[in-house]
Amino acid sequence: MTYNPDLKKPEVRHREKQKNPDRPMGKKPDWIRVKAPVSKEYHATRNIVKQLHLTTVCEEAGCPNIGECWQKSHATFMIMGEVCTRACSFCNVATGRPDALNPMEPTKVAVAVQKMGLKHVVITSVDRDDLDDGGAEHFVKTISEIRRLCDGTTIEILTPDFKGKKGAVDVVAKARPDVFNHNLETVPGLYPTIRPGARYFTSLRLLERVKDVDPTIFTKSGIMVGLGETREQVGQVMDDLRAADVDFLTIGQYLQPTPKHAAVEAFITPEEFSVYEKMARAKGFLMVAATPLTRSSYHAGEDFEKLRLARLKKLGLENDAVDAGRVLNGDVQADESHAPVSAAE
Ligand code: SF4
Repeated sequence: MTYNPDLKKPEVRHREKQKNPDRPMGKKPDWIRVKAPVSKEYHATRNIVKQLHLTTVCEEAGCPNIGECWQKSHATFMIMGEVCTRACSFCNVATGRPDALNPMEPTKVAVAVQKMGLKHVVITSVDRDDLDDGGAEHFVKTISEIRRLCDGTTIEILTPDFKGKKGAVDVVAKARPDVFNHNLETVPGLYPTIRPGARYFTSLRLLERVKDVDPTIFTKSGIMVGLGETREQVGQVMDDLRAADVDFLTIGQYLQPTPKHAAVEAFITPEEFSVYEKMARAKGFLMVAATPLTRSSYHAGEDFEKLRLARLKKLGLENDAVDAGRVLNGDVQADESHAPVSAAE
């Protein structure tokens, strides 16, 4: 199959979900409201994405934070096309038979990162169960092109589970992204309805495997709440992630993309999110982000700096952490500091 940039997305975005009964989309509470994207910086980001014919999860997932993130040039690139081989009941990405990979995409993503001047970039993808390696090599090429064109940019990847294909995680981890994120998405009891094409323990093992390959890579995972899970089930997921030595947990409110998607069972209040954050910190995560609008890539750059500082502190390198913090806060120039920015380096 050769790459054809003129191939269009399926005309009915969620054809496989049309047989589902309509599930009414309730009014969102006040704490979910976001501003419309109107700033000139938002349009500048949009222009770069469009000129390079790139896909972003910000648009494909209908992310509520797009106005805020794109105003700061923080777009999350979605590689390997805009059509996914799975049909999760929470996800707004189109399902179907994807196109062949675009061999120029890794370079184009790197050019976009360069044009946007990003210090930290998040790269995600659709599931590509049709590919022998699940798309692992394409991730590696994208990491390599960003490293070639964007000196100093830190790289966070948010990968699919590669369908557990042998060697796929190892190949990507050996490319040494700064952060390897893979979302569990929900509690194991809800997998059959929410994430039917995936297996909870395959995802957990993936995260564990990244640390086996390279313990210096930060690992990150996220779940949505409001899908009908209990607090005890969320606590169990936290324990499972800590047992896999995952460093960073994100928790955000599930929002229903269309009436054909899984219903929102509950809007979790900001106070309940604070409880989840405290629970997670008590269980030993280096970093926790838990608010209604938290998404895997929301504030990813700032959170990555906090993550590095947290590791330095945990390693007892308090003074280094303070120096690194001053550099990050702009109090001193990087070359005045004697501190390594990361214990991993
Ligand atoms: S939170 Fe992530 S997906 Fe949403 S707009 Fe921001 S960068 Fe994009």
